[in-house]
Amino acid sequence: MKKEKKSALHISSGTDSPAVYNPELLQKFRRKKHSSEEFIEAIQKGDSVLLSQAITLVESNKESDQAEAEKIVAACLQHKNNSIRIGITGSPGVGKSTFIEFFGKMLIEKGLKVAVLAIDPSSQLSHGSILGDKTRMQELSTNPNAYVRPSAAGDSLGGVARKTRETIYLCEAAGFDVIIIETVGVGQSETAVHSMVDFFLLLLLPNAGDELQGIKRGVVEMADLIAVNKSDGAALAQAKLAKAQYQNALHMFPPKIGGWIPSAELCSGLSGTGIEAIWEKIEAYKKQMSENNYWQKHRAEQAKYWMHESILQHLKDMFYHHPKIKDLLPEIESELIAGKISSFKAARLLLEKFMD
Ligand code: GDP
Repeated sequence: MKKEKKSALHISSGTDSPAVYNPELLQKFRRKKHSSEEFIEAIQKGDSVLLSQAITLVESNKESDQAEAEKIVAACLQHKNNSIRIGITGSPGVGKSTFIEFFGKMLIEKGLKVAVLAIDPSSQLSHGSILGDKTRMQELSTNPNAYVRPSAAGDSLGGVARKTRETIYLCEAAGFDVIIIETVGVGQSETAVHSMVDFFLLLLLPNAGDELQGIKRGVVEMADLIAVNKSDGAALAQAKLAKAQYQNALHMFPPKIGGWIPSAELCSGLSGTGIEAIWEKIEAYKKQMSENNYWQKHRAEQAKYWMHESILQHLKDMFYHHPKIKDLLPEIESELIAGKISSFKAARLLLEKFMD
């Protein structure tokens, strides 16, 4: 039998190639440019499409986008509401997204609007994600009274934290009553989250010591409430034991400013038990802190902290991007490594060059 000649590159003669896209449609879907006034007006009306676009501007590293974002954020600051900002942390698999899904839906049933923002430190280290690429909080993210935004990408935690803080203001101007900042409890991101929220909730597992869960003592100390999650089924007895142990551990820390005494509670994000009680604790916290004026004082302290953080970040960027420093740095580093100068002298030489 004669073998047929085959070619993958065969083109029918006499047929025109179809257009790969419809130029008119493309024009229609291409993002319309909005003025900052249009953004602000739409955000205040709760337009989630423009809210998302504004957050994208906040997250952008392009200078023109940043200037636009700055205007929008400044205007939103004038219109922010009386929200409560809650940080939620815990090791991967502790049940954060299951918890937030239940918690968020419960708050929406109470008539509140809920925004969930994430800080994922892993994306800077590994360019992967610990919080997961899987679709998280599926029901919440499609609810019209919720807004779920995955972690901002960035090359430093400081950068991601700034973007998240500005995103909080945008969400507050959009009328979200509860802003949840979620982070995975394995790095430094808890400290950043702690310094931008009113209330810090730590989720722990019933059946492992906190060291085993990768939770540092400092994080336990930051918690305003510890929730022993997955306290259901066969794990319940162990969870009760864990709750007593955490309760004891919390007693070892000095009382918090504002007089709040953190406690440990049992909950299950899966069945929903204990979640209402956690919300009641958060409301009690807000009441107590507002009555003794600590609520505003705490926020003012945080605003100052972020201003100083921002100054340090800018100075650092200016220093390391300065042409003179870029030129001199390798030379000074080799002198330092060769033991010719001390670290302090090296730093002084570079700083003198920078300020010259
Ligand atoms: P995250 O990585 O902290 O966001 O954890 P996930 O919410 O994705 O949950 C990790 C796993 O634990 C999933 O298989 C969940 O079904 C399960 N899980 C979450 N919450 C609970 C809970 O309250 N009880 C039990 N038994 N399992 C849970």
